[in-house]
Parts: sequence; C-alpha cells; structure tokens
Amino acid sequence: MINLVQTLCPYCGVGCGLEAVSQSTERKDQRIETAYKIRGDRAHPSSQGMVCVKGATIMESIAKDRLLYPMLRENLEAEFRRVSWEEALEKIVSEIQQTKAEFGVDALSMYGSGQFQTEDYYIAQKLFKGCLGTNNFDANSRLCMSSAVSGYIKSFGSDGPPCCYEDLDLTDCAFIIGSNMAECHPILFNRLRRHHKTKPGVKLIVVDPRRTQTAEVADLHLAIQPGTDIDLLNGIAYLLLKWEKCDRLFIQKHTNGFAEFCELVQFYPPEKVAITCGIPEQDLEIAAKYWAESQAVLSLWSMGINQSAQGTAKVQSIINLHLLTAQIGKPGAGAFSLTGQPNAMGGREAGGLSHLLPGYRSVKNPDHRRELEEHWGLSSGQISAQPGRDAWEIIRGIEQGEVQFLWIAATNPVVSFPDLVRTKKALKKCKFTVYQDAYYPTETSAYAHLLLPATQWSEKTGTMTNSERMVSLCPAFQPCMGESRHDWEIFAEVGRRLGFEPQFSFQDSGEVYTEFAKITKGRVCDHSGISHAILASEGAMQLPCAEPETRVSKITNKRLYTDLQFHTRDRRANFGAYHSQGMAEPTDLEYPFALTTGRLYGHWHTQTRTGRIPKIQQMHPNPFIEIHPRDAKKLGIEAQDLVEVRSRRGFAKFPALITNAIAPGVVFVPMHWGYLWADQAEANALTHPLACPDSLQPELKACAVQLKVCKH
Ligand code: SF4
Repeated sequence: MINLVQTLCPYCGVGCGLEAVSQSTERKDQRIETAYKIRGDRAHPSSQGMVCVKGATIMESIAKDRLLYPMLRENLEAEFRRVSWEEALEKIVSEIQQTKAEFGVDALSMYGSGQFQTEDYYIAQKLFKGCLGTNNFDANSRLCMSSAVSGYIKSFGSDGPPCCYEDLDLTDCAFIIGSNMAECHPILFNRLRRHHKTKPGVKLIVVDPRRTQTAEVADLHLAIQPGTDIDLLNGIAYLLLKWEKCDRLFIQKHTNGFAEFCELVQFYPPEKVAITCGIPEQDLEIAAKYWAESQAVLSLWSMGINQSAQGTAKVQSIINLHLLTAQIGKPGAGAFSLTGQPNAMGGREAGGLSHLLPGYRSVKNPDHRRELEEHWGLSSGQISAQPGRDAWEIIRGIEQGEVQFLWIAATNPVVSFPDLVRTKKALKKCKFTVYQDAYYPTETSAYAHLLLPATQWSEKTGTMTNSERMVSLCPAFQPCMGESRHDWEIFAEVGRRLGFEPQFSFQDSGEVYTEFAKITKGRVCDHSGISHAILASEGAMQLPCAEPETRVSKITNKRLYTDLQFHTRDRRANFGAYHSQGMAEPTDLEYPFALTTGRLYGHWHTQTRTGRIPKIQQMHPNPFIEIHPRDAKKLGIEAQDLVEVRSRRGFAKFPALITNAIAPGVVFVPMHWGYLWADQAEANALTHPLACPDSLQPELKACAVQLKVCKH
C-alpha cells in the first residue's frame, strides 16, 4: 500500500515542501514494514518540487542514535541512569520550585531552537514568560536572526521580511551580501540563477570576502575585507546621492531620518571606501550604477551580516539603500533576510527571543504585555517588563551564580556557541541542566544532569514558517521512538505540575496552534485565518492571513508594505545612520589573519543529522582551512598540511586547502565539526590526525587568529 504525506523540510529556512511516500510490505513473519522515501512536493508554493541533498536524504538520519528514555545523574561526573518520565518531570518541577524560592524566578532560563515547531515555541513562551514570569527564554536564533529582527523593527516598526520568493523571478538586480546562497539556500539560489541566466540585463552582485560558488556566477563580486560591510553600503549611498539617483518624493513622504543619514554618508567617499574595503573604486561605482539603473533591486543576506557586533546596524544600512531608491513594496524589490533554520520565522512569530512576546510583540511594551496576560488568564503585571537574558547573558549569569537552572532543547550549543572554552566552563558550573533532544550523544549531552527524549520531524505534528512567511503543516507520519515525547507536551506537563492546569489543558498541537493563531490577529504575522485543518486541506498559507483562504481564493506571493504604510507610529520607515566600526576584534601583529566561518552545501549546523547520512559524509568527509597561496607560501604551508589556528579564545587544527578563492589575510573554515565528528574526521584524514576544533567557533562572524603549520 502506498501512502503519501505532504510536509516541510526540517533543515534550512528556505522551507521546501517535501512528500514522504511510504511503501508498506508484509514480511515473512506477517509483520508490516513501512519505509518512506522523500521527494520534492510539486504542489508546495515555495519550492515547486525542488529539493537539495539534505531534504532528499533526511529519512536516513531519523532512527540513528536516538535518545529513547529519560536519564538522570546527580552530577556531571556520575553515570546517567534510566528514570521514568514521572521521576524526570517531578525532578524538573522540584528544581524549578527550589531555584525560584532560593534565588528568584530570574535564576531560571531556557535555551530553545529554530528547530522547534511553532507550537513548541509558543508553549515555552507561555510557561516561562507568562506563568513563571521570567523572560529568560532565548533561542539559537539569537546567533542567527536576531540582527535581522532588530533591523526590521528599527527600520519598519515591525519584524517580518517584506519580500516573497517570486521576487527572485522578477528582480532586475540581486544584491547578495554576507550569504553563500548557492550552498546555504540552494533551492532559492537555483531559482534566482535561472532568472539571471534567462533574462537579459539582470544583474547579480555578490559581496563576500570569499569567492564562493555564489560569487562565481556573479556579474560583480566585491571581495571586501571582513567587517567593512557598512563602509561599502554607505559608500554606495554616497554615490547614489551624488548622482541624484534617489527618490526624493518617496523619501519625503514615507521616511524619517534622511538628513542625518545624508550627513553621515558624506564620510564615505568612494576613494576612501575602496581602500577600506580592499576593492577597486571602479567596482564600487559599478555596484552603485547597478542599483541606480535597475527598476527593481532585491537585496538578500544571511549570517555574514547578522552575525556581527554591528549586525542590526548592517541590516539597517542595507535597508537604507532601499529607502533611498524606493526599492520596497513592489515586485522584484525589497530587503530580504534569508532565515537559517527551518522555523526561525515561526520562532520570531511566537516571541522566541528574550525581548519578544508572541505575535511580534515586545516585553517592553505595556499594551503588549497586557494583551498576553489577558489572553493567558494571568494576573496583571505577571509578565516582566524587563527583557530576559539573551543566549550569552545566560552563560554570564551561570558564571556569576545568577542562573541556576538551564533547560536546553533541540539545539547543540556546545558546538554552536561562541567562546566555547568559556561556555563549557560555565555549563560545568550550572547547578541543574536539562537537555531535551532527539539524539544521543551530542556534544551538549555531556553537560546535562537530566536528559529528556524528544520526538522530532516526522513523529510530531506542528507548523513551521519559512523565509517568505509561508506557513506549512508538518504532520506526524511515523511512530514516536522509545519513550520520546513532543517538546510542547513536555513544557505543558511541567506547567500543569507547577499549578497552571487551565493554561495548559491542550489535547493536541492543533489546539495549541488555534490559541496561538488567535493572539496574532491584526499583527504583521497574522495567523488568525489558519488552522491545522485548513493547512491540511488547502496546503501552505502565506502570512499575513487574517481570513481562511481556500485553494481557489488563496492569495499567493504576498508582499509587505505595498501601500508604503510602515508599522511605525507615524507609518514612515526610518533611515538608520551608522558609522562602520570594522571588525569587533581587529587583526594585529600577534593575530594577523581574519577567520571567517560558514556552511557547506551538504552539512547542516553541528551534523547531528547530516553526520549520520553516508552520502553527505562522503560529500564532505573532513573540515579544512582555506588559505590564500601568498599567505601559505609565507608560512611554509603546503596543501593538506595540518594547520593550527589559534584565536584569543581557543584553537583547532585543519588540513590546508590553498586557494585563490580566499583573499590574502583572510582564512575560512566550515562550521560543522564539533568534537564528536572530529574523531570521524581523524579516521578519514588518514595521514593527518585532526585535533578537536571544538574551541574555535569565533566570537563573531570574523575574528583575529594566528596560523602555524604543524610538524607531523
Ligand atoms: Fe531543505 Fe533547505 Fe535543501 Fe530546501 S534548500 S531541501 S529547505 S535544506
């Protein structure tokens, strides 16, 4: 018997529709065996049947190395012992109560994930920010999307990428900055590439210190020095103003802050910017000319912009160019932040950062707090007005003894966090750490007192929102493994045991979603016209969606701000005037190289899934360090030599990949190898033992390092 399930890819924020096709066969012992194959879903509006290697092979990782039952230990040196859910839940409840009584509610914290479904996110907010009364919930989106969130809010008055994927087919000029789209968002890049190849005159500008696969096919590649993005963006603005290629009427009617911005931009003449960025002045002028002459300019960015000490300023500096030229709210144009994780967007909608509340609301806004308190049946003042601890503040809080209880779910911070030596030291000190995940072991499980087995994609039903604000239902189609439970169910059960029965009386995730959707009514991320049943019968829906839509009435390719009415008080967008501060940690004589990191096409983050898929392992068996031939020669490094990379915070070793694709003075390593996978890499590397790269993740997207070739 063949069964077909429509769902969404659980890796990157492109959010490709997948079809899981089952084939059931009867075995000799009369047991029915069901196997699933994955293919692209042609009916999904975002991806139209396309899928990359990660989505296509996802089933191969689902059953491997799973955490099957709760495990507890008294301290981090002790062995885990299997415990019942009853014991595990009671332990959490008593730890929460004790911590609260002894240290106050702000000694509790949770660190969640863009891998959560929206329902998981929402229940975690209700538990922590609502019922417990602490905003100490942050997520790995902090390391990924928080700059985009802040940039959108400051420029437009609300979060929410304003574009849709159709803009990739309609633009005259794509300006990709800080994103290796070809490897990190391959299905979107293929779509843009097709448009670029087939429509004469369409321009593709790529800004990246590396000549990535994305940059290879660009009309103009600006290989700027790390940390000079704002110089470049202000430099383009300078030329647009000088050439009078800005839309004065739009600026006058729809923006604030123009005069201050103009004043600041005068510090960025092309001759100065070209030197700072390390690019020919002529190339800067070509970039500005493409902006000036194109009818529709679409900028696209991801972690190369967001992961920065000046991330918000960089996002606003991109948006400034759109405001200057009125490239917003029309087909093929706009400032499009590409999300990293499958449900980073749903997390934002559900309030999954320490300063947010569900429905793109803010903890600082008294009206927003009141709306949520009323909705959740809580007393007035229950939600704290104080933004909670962000990801790094949680670590600092543990160091200072101010955070005593940490609940980590669906993420692997012991590989992905900055400054890992310090992070691990802090985690060792935490009085009680719960780690809730589908897999075991991960690098983070070594730092937990209590392990809780969670279901994952294919075993749980919930929704996810992709980069173009498309909400899809991901239904369960496989049984849970072992004793695993859904994330939202675990949070709700703890809530009930803490005395909040009425707040957590949900029967299933459909009811959770209905409650969440209701509180988004009238917001930019309006889900109120959607339910699980509607998504199941009508397919994915794009936000905002205030009324139920059918396949016939469905509005596709929605854009925000087509009426040029922004979500600020006066409905005008804001210019943001920012000077460039360069790299937060500049290179110097002792640490003369700028290290950057990024993803590879086949792997996903810390390899929790992709490291368990043979095809992807064969594709990318080892990490490497890209180094320019000139630097390699200077240091006596030859191809495949083991190179020790040392920052002020840690070190790692990688085989050298000598290439012109990286600028002199800059080196690159992929981000995926934590110590669990370094062992594997060591076996594969044959001649070169690889040291564990676990302490290297740079503090920011680029940090200063020194290099040394290792003797072997
Ligand atoms: Fe999944 Fe992203 Fe690949 Fe699409 S592009 S199949 S969402 S990993």
